Amino acid sequence: GDLAGLDNLVANTAYLNAQRSELRIDTLRLPRLKRSSAQLAAGEMTYEFLCEQQPIGRRLFQKFLLTSNLQSVAAAEFLQELSQWSVAVDGSKDEAKRRIVAKFCQPQSCTFLSYLPGEEADVCRALSEKNFDEVKVGQIREATRNFLKGKPFQQYLKSPFFYRFLQWKQCERQKITDRYFYEFRTLGKGGFGEVCAVQVKCTGQMYACKKLEKSRLKKKCGERLALMEKQILEKVNSLFIVNLAYAYENETHLCLVMDLMPGGDLRFHIYELGPRGLRMERVVYYAAQIITGILHLHSMDIIYRDLKPENVLLDGKGQCRLSDLGLAVELPKGKMICQKAGTTGYMAPEVLRQEYYRTSVDWWALGCSIYEMVAARLPFKDFKEKVQNSEVTRRTLEDEVKFEDKRFDAPTKDIIAQFLKKKMVYRLGCHSGVDPRNHAFFKNIHFHRLEAGLVEPPWVPRPNVVYAKDIDHYQDNSELKDVKLDAKDEKFFKEFSTGAVSIQWQTEIINSGVFEEVNNAEGNGNLSENGWK
Ligand code: ADP
Ligand code: MG
Ligand code: MG
Repeated sequence: GDLAGLDNLVANTAYLNAQRSELRIDTLRLPRLKRSSAQLAAGEMTYEFLCEQQPIGRRLFQKFLLTSNLQSVAAAEFLQELSQWSVAVDGSKDEAKRRIVAKFCQPQSCTFLSYLPGEEADVCRALSEKNFDEVKVGQIREATRNFLKGKPFQQYLKSPFFYRFLQWKQCERQKITDRYFYEFRTLGKGGFGEVCAVQVKCTGQMYACKKLEKSRLKKKCGERLALMEKQILEKVNSLFIVNLAYAYENETHLCLVMDLMPGGDLRFHIYELGPRGLRMERVVYYAAQIITGILHLHSMDIIYRDLKPENVLLDGKGQCRLSDLGLAVELPKGKMICQKAGTTGYMAPEVLRQEYYRTSVDWWALGCSIYEMVAARLPFKDFKEKVQNSEVTRRTLEDEVKFEDKRFDAPTKDIIAQFLKKKMVYRLGCHSGVDPRNHAFFKNIHFHRLEAGLVEPPWVPRPNVVYAKDIDHYQDNSELKDVKLDAKDEKFFKEFSTGAVSIQWQTEIINSGVFEEVNNAEGNGNLSENGWK
């Protein structure tokens, strides 16, 4: 009773305070490297990997260029301003365009792109505010990359900036254990264990840690599934999917450390907060972000298979991401699958009939989810309705969707009906050439800006509220005693525990300010002298 209430208050306070403070408990030091110990794989020694994909690599290459000759400075600034231009809108877009033309396209400017070869040089000189378009700009961008890939890149590899990159890389590859984090309250419970909030000691970054109990995984044959979830999570890198930052193990658990989503899941928002259902503005915004996440997965030949409001989580700003890729599968182009997987009420007719399918099932589930966000019930199952799965299956296969709720407007009804076409060939999203993002339902969404995370959310979570059930709700001490782990299990656990995920880790180091701080503390002097010892 009261004591449980007090425990919950203490746990909430610790968790909320950790989120607010940027306190860092450990300081990070870079290792001294010997040439022999500082090796990258052969496939990693490319310009794309070192100077574009790796966030810390990109920063250090930029710093190198800016201390290099005028041509390199111009190239670096050109790429920077171009990426600002591509996401700007209205007035600031015109402004960015004018600046680019004046700075880089006019031969009398000291940052004129003088390295461009003949044809691109002509395009560049002829560029004006009036004829500025994606094609011409793309051509100049490509020529700029080709220039940087040549001499500047070769010089970078011999510079102290690259030595610094290798130091960071070494740091990234350290072994991760429980001691790397502080642990806070439980936020949710899954099939194999709980999800709690954690904080990295050396950066102050908050994450969610999904703990999978080793003995439970073995008993329920979940080991292969856990590895699949981990491998798919680390592959995707999107603003609209919960990203994996670390995968490690302790004696009893496998741990997936992911983006913390303090705003709670959409199911909680539909049913537990205020009047049931969401305002149309929120429905459209979340649906747009869900589509962006789904398209990202599909572009990598990954089918999500578990789309439902419960698996869509809100971050601190009110933007949403897909989570729980436990049922996701990767299918090479052209390959189909007929395995029954998903949640009752959200499964497409082709899944229920155990026919072959690909990405069509996610579009069906999106139709169900939009319906549920509006009406606080599923198209073929009422909220809390006690009904057999076989009856839900029958309705899904035979009944037409009904829109009795007055909150459905014409475009919403239309897009849902198109996602809920029983035959895949007629379903929106399933035929090339018709893009769901062009539907009238999304007329107020600027997808290009949305993809860059620049559209203001229609609703923002309150920073002093925990959007999860009280902690006593999650207490469960049932133990599994009869499970023995053997060498085969250990081999699997090792395969799972790969430590920090490169891009996520580097982004954490940069965003927390630790990157600049440590670089300064290590002395930029080291960067102008040769760092090799
Ligand atoms: P399962 O695969 O067993 O369904 P989930 O990955 O869905 O497990 O996690 C269980 C619950 O934990 C979720 O429903 C949600 O409430 C909570 N949760 C999961 N991931 C996060 C996260 N990244 N941030 C905050 N809460 C989370
Ligand atoms: Mg789940
Ligand atoms: Mg799952």
